[in-house]
Amino acid sequence: MPMSAEQVEQFRNEFRTKYISARYSGWRHLGLTVSITLLVMIACILALNNVLPLEWLAVPVTFVYANLTEYLGHKGPMHHKTRILPLPFQRHTVEHHAFFTETRTTFDNSRDFKAVLFPPVMLLFFFGGFALPVGLLLYYTLSPNVAFLFVLTSAAYFLNYELLHFCYHIDENSWVSKLPFMSTLRRHHTFHHNRRLMSNYNFNITYPICDYLFGSYYRGD
Ligand SMILES: [Zn+2]
Ligand SMILES: [Zn+2]
Repeated sequence: MPMSAEQVEQFRNEFRTKYISARYSGWRHLGLTVSITLLVMIACILALNNVLPLEWLAVPVTFVYANLTEYLGHKGPMHHKTRILPLPFQRHTVEHHAFFTETRTTFDNSRDFKAVLFPPVMLLFFFGGFALPVGLLLYYTLSPNVAFLFVLTSAAYFLNYELLHFCYHIDENSWVSKLPFMSTLRRHHTFHHNRRLMSNYNFNITYPICDYLFGSYYRGD
């Protein structure tokens, strides 16, 4: 069901009262996300040692795997009732899609970053519960370099996801929105915020590779 402008405004005010504390700073949240992820990436780069040509394959393979995870995670648990994933995933449809609609896509101020960025504690879930176990498995079954390239690419992909999604919800007239490909990617995500389309189209937040492959790419035609 589409939401009226008044309903969105009312939801935004309720969300702010309920979830955004007086001490919250959107810029600190963004800074934490960027710096923790960059630290993980730098640690992985420093750990690499004489990477063999075949080992570099870990980068494109991880990229495709991450794109598929983004697609399936968003299409499945985030848009269906489930209890298997942490709350920020479960609340995606009722919160992120109510805070931002096709006609109201932008932040009002930096405190609204909370409605887009994953909570910093989720970094533990991504890195500790996901990248670390798979990385350890690769470390012992394939090679340390493959493991570090996997974690490096996963972290870079996560950062790319957070920053792109953040940019889609910035004012359309800002310089960020004029970066190459940004308007195409933003348009792709804005269609996903149309409540009549959100359950069926445009589940990739970054690059719509899986949307294209699985026939859920909506261009507006
Ligand atoms: Zn969004
Ligand atoms: Zn969604």
